[in-house]
Amino acid sequence: MRICNLVLSAACLAASVPSCYPQAVNGVELPSNGPYRADANLFQVSTLGALEAAVLEGAYPIGLLKHEGNFGVGHYVGLGGELIALDGHFYHAYSDGTVDEAQDKELVPFAAVLNFTPEQSLKMRGMTMAQLDTFIANKIPSDNYFYAIKIHGLFSYVKTRIIPQQVQPYPTLDEAITREVIFIRQNEEGTAVVIRSPQYVANLNIAGDHYHFISDDHQYGGHALDLTVQNATLEIQQIRRNTLWLPATTAFQKAPLPAPAK
Ligand SMILES: [Zn+2]
Repeated sequence: MRICNLVLSAACLAASVPSCYPQAVNGVELPSNGPYRADANLFQVSTLGALEAAVLEGAYPIGLLKHEGNFGVGHYVGLGGELIALDGHFYHAYSDGTVDEAQDKELVPFAAVLNFTPEQSLKMRGMTMAQLDTFIANKIPSDNYFYAIKIHGLFSYVKTRIIPQQVQPYPTLDEAITREVIFIRQNEEGTAVVIRSPQYVANLNIAGDHYHFISDDHQYGGHALDLTVQNATLEIQQIRRNTLWLPATTAFQKAPLPAPAK
């Protein structure tokens, strides 16, 4: 049996940081900031395919999710509201238009979070969602990675949707979306929380940009279907590590989760 000798830095050992990267393996020194490092981790609860197949039971508590990240998106049990995680606060936007901070015991059937440490900060003004897509595409090295994107500023237009609480037997995501409640705001100061996923993860996560929005006063939020930036700062973080956590629920175990269409 091969014995692997890991040499960890003193700081790693002292802090017991799980993502700390070894300095050497089997006596071979590793680059401290080389291509093997990917400390940023997108932690995902369940899959988009499961959500589409009506696996909407609570699977993972907010209190634990906070240990996996301070920034991200998700849903609550029965699709009853939208999750917006920003600066370590986990907000719950309800279909009656109210927003609260979620309690640690609340459960999510689906979420994707990370610890946000942006690498780029860009000023921008006057952009629609389609223009934003092109702007971001021109600033990132490849569409084949995940990205966390935070856009904070003044939005001349924001259109959000919130799906009302669904009850068992749960509908599919497509059925539930037909019951969505739409909210439109103009001249809203706030933050778009965006997870940009590569096309090849379709069925696991939303391929492309998944926008959620929360106003600065935390009174308005939801899944953003459309928005126009008037004046904002956009920050981007590349992510090359993705943890998939799968629910232990009977609903997940029995759900028909087919392979992606070829
Ligand atoms: Zn969403």
